[in-house]
Amino acid sequence: MNVPLLDLKAQYRGMKSEILAAMEAVCDEQGFVLGPRVAEFEKATAQYVGSRHAIGCASGSDALLLALMASGVKAGDEVITVPFTFFATAGAISRLGARPVFIDIESDSFNIDPHQLERAMTPRTKAIIPVHLFGQCADMAAINGIARPRGIRVIEDACQAIGAAQEGRRAGVLADVGCFSFFPTKNLGGFGDGGLMTTDDNGLADALAMLRVHGSRVRYLHEAVGINSRLDALQAAVLHVKLKYLNQWTEGRRRNAERYERLFAQAQLLDRVLLPVTKPGNFHVYNQYTVRVRQRDELRNFLKEKGVGSEVYYPLPMHLQNCYHDLGYHKGSFPVSERAAEEVLSLPIYAELTDEQQAYVVQMIGEFYRRT
Ligand SMILES: *Cc1c(COP(=O)(O)O)cnc(C)c1O
Repeated sequence: MNVPLLDLKAQYRGMKSEILAAMEAVCDEQGFVLGPRVAEFEKATAQYVGSRHAIGCASGSDALLLALMASGVKAGDEVITVPFTFFATAGAISRLGARPVFIDIESDSFNIDPHQLERAMTPRTKAIIPVHLFGQCADMAAINGIARPRGIRVIEDACQAIGAAQEGRRAGVLADVGCFSFFPTKNLGGFGDGGLMTTDDNGLADALAMLRVHGSRVRYLHEAVGINSRLDALQAAVLHVKLKYLNQWTEGRRRNAERYERLFAQAQLLDRVLLPVTKPGNFHVYNQYTVRVRQRDELRNFLKEKGVGSEVYYPLPMHLQNCYHDLGYHKGSFPVSERAAEEVLSLPIYAELTDEQQAYVVQMIGEFYRRT
């Protein structure tokens, strides 16, 4: 049997004619950058997230960069985030000449540990970027409770968490600005790169929209030095079609997560495979179904031989990356993140996964641990 980590072709098969029609309409219009298709998609996404504004851009990485720019983050400032994330979170901070200040994660949720926030703050702290890793929101009440009284901006890295919620409110409205990615492997994935920012703040929305077109509100007049980061009409058309199916896919992912729980329990593997934990008040959307295991790399190779796809998100925390050598961190600086990097393994969870495929994944993991 073959079980890929993600099967985008299965998703596309069910909606091919609808997507091609939407793309054909854009081709007939020959309007490719921003424009009405993008505006319609922004409106629909704002409604979905529950935000007053949504501003499309070229990628999730740019969404983070623009959110920091609109927050006035500049050279010499500090921005607090986690070392256990995709590189873009930290990269956006560095691109502005600011310094990423890392704090460790909680071992159960893989998200920022708010208890460590206060200790990491200095007079130069301008913003905090909690990452809603794998599709579960960070503890936003605790983070906002510390940041708000100090006037520190909170930017959600919600790139893996569209549709996730905390206390009934969706990712993207849980802080000052939410950053989303439409990279194909995200829960709402385009046919290439794409991103979006959400906010309830009129001034911030205005600044984000200005910064994404070279700091210009009126053509050829520039109020700030911005960047070129726009959402393409073709991407918006594809994403708008897919947005209608997002809740259905999310339910599929959640159903599969429940099924994994039953299957791993039945196979008596719960002492070998530590399953993802949903913290109280959270609606998890499982962009990744990430377990912790021993002999992780051996297991991964074994699964590969058996036709089961898996991936390590992420094998090397940010503070140990070569490009961040100068920040002065070392091995042991963030033990929870370092341990996660050694133990995590993401398993297939996409909505179209069949019962048989899922049973096979668990059966093969069982086979591996019986052999060793
Ligand atoms: C995907 C991702 C990003 C960046 O998104 P791109 O669209 O690929 O630039 C940022 N942060 C996290 C946590 C992500 O998963």
